[in-house]
Amino acid sequence: MVCVNERATKFQPTLRLPQPEARLWKERRLAMDILKPRVVPMNRRRRIYEGKAKVLYEGPEPGTLIQHFKDDATAFNAQKHEVIDGKGVLNNRISEFMFQNLNDIGVPTHFIRRLNMREQLIREVEIIPLEVVVRNIAAGSLSKKLGIEEGTQLPRSIIEFYYKNDALGDPMVSEEHITAFGWATPQEIDDIMALAIRVNDFLSGLFLGAGIRLVDFKIECGRLWEGEMMRIVIADEISPDSCRLWDIKTKDKMDKDRFRMDLGGLIEAYTEVARRLGIIVEGERPASNGPRLVQ
Ligand code: UDP
Repeated sequence: MVCVNERATKFQPTLRLPQPEARLWKERRLAMDILKPRVVPMNRRRRIYEGKAKVLYEGPEPGTLIQHFKDDATAFNAQKHEVIDGKGVLNNRISEFMFQNLNDIGVPTHFIRRLNMREQLIREVEIIPLEVVVRNIAAGSLSKKLGIEEGTQLPRSIIEFYYKNDALGDPMVSEEHITAFGWATPQEIDDIMALAIRVNDFLSGLFLGAGIRLVDFKIECGRLWEGEMMRIVIADEISPDSCRLWDIKTKDKMDKDRFRMDLGGLIEAYTEVARRLGIIVEGERPASNGPRLVQ
């Protein structure tokens, strides 16, 4: 039996201030909240998700997230893994450039703005579990599967869908699978394909101007909810990690194939891509440590 006194000692009374004083304190607290910096210190951020190359943290406002680019490089469904110093910094800058330009031409993306060397502020979206690959030239798995010589110009740009599932090794799927299993509706697939073609045309032209051939690339899409309305936007990243980029003159690989094929010189290649696009200025090498001049 619990005696009354014992219960009384367990009870922690809250301090009750007289009404006017309590209101004053509440107002002061509210004023201090407004003055607080909006960026939460790194160690107090809530981690939402950690992937192979990026981490997502809770953002400063509802409906936002912080996307952090790591230096980790993985390939062959994460069987090959390395940490390449400076890769995250380069991908953050290159992806910022791509997404900002896409936003500017009216292709909706999750990107809001870059925050620092490794992080960007993004809108929280409901990721559609598909990797959308657009191909202009035969390479990689397409060459292997269909026996088409790498470097062959395709008769037209080809869109493929892969189901995002590491345990299954991201299998290729058809529109039938996507709609039957409810990963996206027919209307959403139409929207995704229209966006993918716009991204392909824009990126192809952008890279062409920099003497680089856009061989293929992968994008991910998400549902962005604005009240009752929903629209499909481009999410994740667009960087040399997710594109195949060949130098037009030399055919040199300037993308993650340098890591996949143990060619070396990945940072040099990514830096050259950023330099040619005017993202980093001549002589600048965005390193992972120390302050840097932000363009
Ligand atoms: N890709 C990607 N992530 C993946 C798979 C592919 O970013 O998990 C990109 C890859 O970099 C290339 C394109 O999608 O630009 C087509 O890749 P492919 O199907 O040829 O597969 P891979 O040869 O890269 O295994």
